[in-house]
Amino acid sequence: MSALTDLSEDETLFQASVLEFARREIAPRSRDMDEAAAFADGLVPKLFALGVMGIEVPETHGGGGGRFFHAVLAVEALARADASVSVLVDVQNTLVVNAVTRWGSPEIKQAWLPRLAADTVGAYALSEAGSGSDAFALATRAVATGDGFVLSGRKLWITNAQEAGVFIVFATVDPAAGYKGITAFLVERGAAGFAVGRKEDKLGIRASSTCELLLDNVAVPASRVLGEVGQGYKVAIETLNEGRIGIGAQMLGIAQAALDHAVRYTKERRQFGRAVADFQGVQFQLARAATDVAAARLLVYNAARLRDAGRPFLTEAAMCKLHASEAAERVASLAVNLFGGYGFVKDYPVEKLYRDAKIGQIYEGTSNLQLQTIARHLLA
Ligand SMILES: Cc1cc2nc3c(=O)[nH]c(=O)nc-3n(C[C@H](O)[C@H](O)[C@H](O)COP(=O)(O)OP(=O)(O)OC[C@H]3O[C@@H](n4cnc5c(N)ncnc54)[C@H](O)[C@@H]3O)c2cc1C
Repeated sequence: MSALTDLSEDETLFQASVLEFARREIAPRSRDMDEAAAFADGLVPKLFALGVMGIEVPETHGGGGGRFFHAVLAVEALARADASVSVLVDVQNTLVVNAVTRWGSPEIKQAWLPRLAADTVGAYALSEAGSGSDAFALATRAVATGDGFVLSGRKLWITNAQEAGVFIVFATVDPAAGYKGITAFLVERGAAGFAVGRKEDKLGIRASSTCELLLDNVAVPASRVLGEVGQGYKVAIETLNEGRIGIGAQMLGIAQAALDHAVRYTKERRQFGRAVADFQGVQFQLARAATDVAAARLLVYNAARLRDAGRPFLTEAAMCKLHASEAAERVASLAVNLFGGYGFVKDYPVEKLYRDAKIGQIYEGTSNLQLQTIARHLLA
């Protein structure tokens, strides 16, 4: 028997390579990227070169040929250095590559998986100004034409919009049909009538782009429908069920980083003639934070392993995101406290972790929506 957190040899090597890249290429630029609200020049191509943009893409299509668990390891490792880089990689793998792999026609997979693994960032466009938690109340329309569809509407909050070359856009072919009208389309950047709009000015994950999308009679051929017409709700539900394990991993990475900083700092910082970590009051706070992080890791890894084993994981995914995002906020908040005044300023890394942690309780289903999923299972 092995522990749930034990990694195989190839998982260990993969994790080590991502951690090393994060330490060398990302951590030194994290503060500047936060202030510039943009990724460092040349960073995205390096992520492709590292092999973390198409982790589950088969090797025959130029990808890593890995499993979902590898994606979770990468997202966690990157979040320890920078949560914005982490979510770029998370959306690419757990939503976009995942949806194309599962729902794409052979032609779509042949055309897009090699690009997603090599040089094309993807984005996932479900939310709108009026439809967030109630995502299937979306208003973007897809009107059938002779050989395809014409899309019109607006999407809001779209991660990776500034970097993306391809967007999975959800629209309804029949508003009267409710969720059964929803259809997923692949829309290329540069399509006539398609534009990336205003970029949000955010509390956290500031380097990650979050933008509005404007669709004004965008023609999409029928061959670019992902899955079946009217089955877009399934594409959305199934990818988001898996995606939230990735967000759990992102939050786990933030929590781990906050704990590491807090341990290091309290051992160095001296007050009353002793290291701050010598005070039992501080030790107990650190011990509680370490327990929070360990529980988050078990929940995240368990959900990812269940997914790879083809076993049900819906409740476990909801629990892992709920707990990991709350743990990230708690541990980052503690780290700010334990740094004292230094925790409150940008010269030290923990105030950014505190800001970055907050998004985990909002995107890919708010905490209330995760609780709803867990409660539904509990009371069924
Ligand atoms: C930085 C960022 C990046 C994002 N990236 C993407 C992306 O790439 N693609 C995408 O499609 N979307 C994205 N989103 C959108 C995100 O998924 C939504 O913001 C989220 O689902 C919540 O929707 P909302 O903002 O409309 O809040 P609302 O749904 O209006 O919720 C408001 C409050 O009401 C509560 N609430 C709502 N319904 C219920 C209920 N039934 N029971 C109890 N409480 C309820 C919520 O928990 C919340 O506290 C992103 C958002 C942000 C901020």
